[in-house]
Amino acid sequence: MQRITLPRPDDWHLHLRDGAMLRAVLPETARHFARAIVMPNLVPPVVTLDDALAYRDRILAALPEGMSFQPLMTLYLTEGTDPADVERAAASGLVKAVKLYPAGATTNSQSGVRDLTRVMPVLETMARIGLPLCTHGEVTDPQVDIFDREAVFIDTVLAPLRRRLPELRVVMEHITTEEGVAYAAGGGENLAATITTHHLIINRNHILAGGIRPHYYCLPVAKREKHRLALRRAATSGNPRYFLGTDSAPHVDALKEHACGCAGCFTATNTLSLLAHVFEEEGALDRLEGFTSRHGPAFYRLPVNAGTIALEKRAEPCTWPEKIHAEPGPVTVFNPGFPVHWHVLP
Ligand SMILES: [Zn+2]
Repeated sequence: MQRITLPRPDDWHLHLRDGAMLRAVLPETARHFARAIVMPNLVPPVVTLDDALAYRDRILAALPEGMSFQPLMTLYLTEGTDPADVERAAASGLVKAVKLYPAGATTNSQSGVRDLTRVMPVLETMARIGLPLCTHGEVTDPQVDIFDREAVFIDTVLAPLRRRLPELRVVMEHITTEEGVAYAAGGGENLAATITTHHLIINRNHILAGGIRPHYYCLPVAKREKHRLALRRAATSGNPRYFLGTDSAPHVDALKEHACGCAGCFTATNTLSLLAHVFEEEGALDRLEGFTSRHGPAFYRLPVNAGTIALEKRAEPCTWPEKIHAEPGPVTVFNPGFPVHWHVLP
């Protein structure tokens, strides 16, 4: 029997939604994670400090008795965002990042940015005060193949932005390619990248070969096997540039199993067990705590969590509920497609 103990982990990219869905999924994260960077792509989006404070109150109100969890709030960057409001938000201590969604890139991103030059005053303010910009790193040009959108974003948007504003602290969210891995590795102190659990496990064959599997469809979409392997090397490298952002994103089954299915994998429930499995496969169990618990706080300039969480490898595989039963409908928990033996201890 093998056992590992980690400082309580954080999720540096999480979708909690709102209302009944928030109440259903929040315990899945709070059970294991102390904090999370909470994505602001609600309808309508969380744009201002006031929006973020109200959303934070709703999250804390939805937290079951006896659980502790600290939501780290983000603002949704729009072309109308006021730099002074962003500065107040950072000063509040409750807002930890601003999120850039290229307009139309993913779920509820219609209000995103079309022209970066229009938000330069906001980005300059963020660079001055050290507030990170979290990027959904995909171009939305219909001419660009969906499997190339991350690499093209790096070349045509991110690299030029960082040359223009090198002091801006940037998190490349949910990188999915070897180009993303390489750019993050060479980006210096002001750049980091999050990696999801599911992108360490699936490649595009899992989605498309032998029938379409909508519960593996997410954005950015999983790429070729060589990219999955590059992500695994990065995540398990011990390089503090990379840390966990699950991008766990609940959609009800009816909208996943649909003629135009929603993007998102729901991994909050089983992420830690899956990561222990992946890190063990890569011979890097000793580096798991960096990825889940240390590199993220270092980049966000926050303390490592005081508590710990332990996992134990047992002969019998873990079991999870196949679905989380939310009032709007069932949400399918990510199924890795293989048995996992790392049990999170209560
Ligand atoms: Zn996301």
